[in-house]
Amino acid sequence: MSETTKAHCDRCGGDTNHEVLSFNASENPEYFFSTFSLLKCLGCGEISLEEHVSATREQRDGILEIRYPPRVTRKMPGWWCSKHVIPKTVAQLMLEVHLALRNHSTRLAAMGIRAVLEAVMIDKVSDRGNFKSTLDAFQAAGYIGVRHRNVVEVALEAGHASMHRAWQPNDKELNALMDIAESVIESVYLHEGQAAKLEESVPRRKPPK
Ligand SMILES: [Zn+2]
Repeated sequence: MSETTKAHCDRCGGDTNHEVLSFNASENPEYFFSTFSLLKCLGCGEISLEEHVSATREQRDGILEIRYPPRVTRKMPGWWCSKHVIPKTVAQLMLEVHLALRNHSTRLAAMGIRAVLEAVMIDKVSDRGNFKSTLDAFQAAGYIGVRHRNVVEVALEAGHASMHRAWQPNDKELNALMDIAESVIESVYLHEGQAAKLEESVPRRKPPK
């Protein structure tokens, strides 16, 4: 019977039993001692590679644990790959932002979120030369209200601060930025279609006699 171990599985969303498909060690006298375990989740079959780094072969407690692919901190929204609903550029940018989040590239993620919001606005109202004019046109076209505009402006400014002022958001701030970006995408591309489908299925009121 093959060896099993407990490990985190992103797809199952928690710690699950994993089969150890392969185990190997690598030692560099001038560097660290590493062990590599190729794991297969016994719940869903997902494959991952775990590297445990320690100072010496004898040291039990590792000083670093690295996982490939990196652990997911935030799941991709279900609508992400909805073809013909979300423009390809927006979907691709969202994927790149998620990859930046997974790799703890926090500044790149904040810049990417700004790029996502700009791509959505340009898709709907075209590029008006600068972000303020584009945002004005986006609001005038009714995609966001006055209050929502302020929220979007904060998210755009955060991306600018990461780009030009080396601002490094923490996990909580990045999650807030992601919530804003996702809510804009949902209201711009998804809610109209969902409302149209609802309209078809909700029985109409009978006119008063
Ligand atoms: Zn799993």
